[in-house]
Amino acid sequence: MKGAPRYRSLDSHFRATFGEKAQKITLDAGSDCPNRDGTLSRGGCSFCNGEGSGPGLGLGTLRAQWDRWRARYAAMPRLRNARLFIGYVQSFSNTYGPASRLAAMLRELEELPGLVGVCVGTRPDCLDEEKMAIMASSPWSEFWLELGVQTFNDATLLRVNRGHAAAASERALALAARFGVKTCAHLMAGLPGESGEDFLASARRLAELPVAGVKLHNLYFPRGTAVDAERLAGGVRPLDQEEYAFLAARALTFFPSRAVIHRLCADPAPGELAAPDWAARKRETLDMIDAALEYNDWWQGKACDVPDRNPFATAAPTS
Ligand code: SF4
Repeated sequence: MKGAPRYRSLDSHFRATFGEKAQKITLDAGSDCPNRDGTLSRGGCSFCNGEGSGPGLGLGTLRAQWDRWRARYAAMPRLRNARLFIGYVQSFSNTYGPASRLAAMLRELEELPGLVGVCVGTRPDCLDEEKMAIMASSPWSEFWLELGVQTFNDATLLRVNRGHAAAASERALALAARFGVKTCAHLMAGLPGESGEDFLASARRLAELPVAGVKLHNLYFPRGTAVDAERLAGGVRPLDQEEYAFLAARALTFFPSRAVIHRLCADPAPGELAAPDWAARKRETLDMIDAALEYNDWWQGKACDVPDRNPFATAAPTS
C-alpha cells in the first residue's frame, strides 16, 4: 500500500482550494517564441520538440480546443464527472509579443465554460511590468505563471541554446512576486553537461527565490531535436530512471512545504520520444520518487523548513 503523501501535489492543492478535483486542459493559443522566430534564434532550445514543448490537441480557437478536450474527458470513466477545469496555455511563449495580445488571450479564456483557473506558460525574458499588471488583475484565484527556468547554470543555458541567462529567471521571479502573480518554475534534470549535483544546485537556488510552485522534469530526447543529435553523437547520456527518481526526491526536500508541486516528471507526447524508454512510463517514475522519499525518510521542505515530522503525513490522499 502506498504510504502517506510526502509533498504538496497540485491535485491535493486544487482539492483543498475547490473542494473537489479540478482537471487541467492543455491549450495552444497560437503563440510564438523569440527563440524560434529569429529574434534570438530559429533553432530554439535544443530540447524543444518544435511544438513549443506542448502536446496540444489540434488547433482552432481556444473554445474549439476546450470543447474537444471536454468531450474527450466526458468519455473517460475516471473524468466523466469532472466539473471544474483549469486552462493551461502551454505551447511556446504565451507572454511574447505586445501586452494587448496577452490581455486578449485572457479575455478569451474567461468565456470558457467550467474554467476555474488558468496557467500560462512562458520564458523569463518575455515579461514586463505591463504584462504582470494584466495577469495580476485576472479574475482567477488560481492563476499561475508557468516559467521555464530549467537551470540556473549559465553555461548550460548557453549549451542548450536557451537564449537567456539565469539572471533573467531571477528578475522574472522577483517581478512576479512584486505583482503578486503566483509562479510555477520549471527545472530540468539531466541537461547536457550537468551532473546530478548541478541539478540539485539549481533546485537549492530556486528554493531561495519567491516561487509558489515547482515543476521538475527529467530531460527526455524528442526525435529530430538538436539534443537528440547530441545524444546520438555520444555527447550526452540520458539519466537512468533510478537516478532521476533519487534527484527529484532529494530536490523536493529543498522546497518550502507551502510550495505546490505541479509535476514531478516529463510527459512526452505520443510518438515523439527517442530516448530514454522509461520517460514514457510516468506512473512508474512517480512511484519510484515516492519510494525514494519513503526509503530516505524525506519530504518536501525537510531540508528547508526543518519540521520535526512530515507535515503531509495527515493530508488527504491525492487521488
Ligand atoms: S522557449 Fe520554449 S517554445 Fe521557445 S524554443 Fe525553448 S522550449 Fe521551444
